[in-house]
Amino acid sequence: MLAQNKKFVFGILATLFLLNVFVWLAVFNLKPSQVLEVNFFDVGQGDAIFIETPQKQQILIDAGPGPRILEKLAEEMPFWDRTIDLIILTHPETDHMAGFLEVLKKYQVENILWTGVLKDTAEFEEWQKLISEEKEKEGAEIKIARAGLKIIFSGKDAAENYGFIEILHPLENLEGQKMKNVNSSSIVARLVFGENSFLFTGDILKSDEKKILAEGSNIDSDVLKVSHHGSKSSTDEGFVEKVSPKSAVISVGKDNQYGHPHQEVLETLNKYGIDILRTDLLGDVKIISDGKQYEISNI
Ligand SMILES: [Zn+2]
Repeated sequence: MLAQNKKFVFGILATLFLLNVFVWLAVFNLKPSQVLEVNFFDVGQGDAIFIETPQKQQILIDAGPGPRILEKLAEEMPFWDRTIDLIILTHPETDHMAGFLEVLKKYQVENILWTGVLKDTAEFEEWQKLISEEKEKEGAEIKIARAGLKIIFSGKDAAENYGFIEILHPLENLEGQKMKNVNSSSIVARLVFGENSFLFTGDILKSDEKKILAEGSNIDSDVLKVSHHGSKSSTDEGFVEKVSPKSAVISVGKDNQYGHPHQEVLETLNKYGIDILRTDLLGDVKIISDGKQYEISNI
């Protein structure tokens, strides 16, 4: 949205650690549509999830492996809209990060949330360069994610609450670290809108799922974004049982070289009677929630 066309409070605050609080106010307002949209874009083998709140705050979690994200955003955003409120990079792997290099060149990004985990690739260097430029030239806020951080979608006064995102992983600040397995550093975020909830898991491993369970945080969600494109290194039965989703989205490329999604993961989801929504079979998956119930609008 153009900043002058909306009015809302957009804050990121750390409830557990009181890390940061910031509030952003713009001048005008658009009528809220009272629904929240979550688009799981079909970007081939990778993740790209575009969220629009009732107040038209726009959030992009990962951006897929390349420029296809620009076509997808163009379908969802008005042609004149060159601003995205928040981007979240779950971890710096190509299939989640490369699309952001295009997004950062084309759009003005207001807030950037990532782990600060380092990688030795030219693509990663470009990411770092582009986000610093976004900060210096456009005034973007850069935040480091860790469990306890909460992003609240407020309306024009604090009483209007349009939901929130809470960060459940990584459990500690990983800024400046290099990881043996960068998947394991993925941001896990739970989006709550009224009675509906969504769990976004990046590419975390079963061992990370166990750590999240051990934290005892509420992970119960209606929709689970299945970790790591349905790889068998993720989606442990115990985790699925606790999340207890009605629907599971697997963001995965057609005939990918990794054999994702793995049969074992599909069997676990089937065992619990969870609807499986695969981007390789269905294309984009759009979920619309009014805060009470949700529907999958394009299937
Ligand atoms: Zn991935």
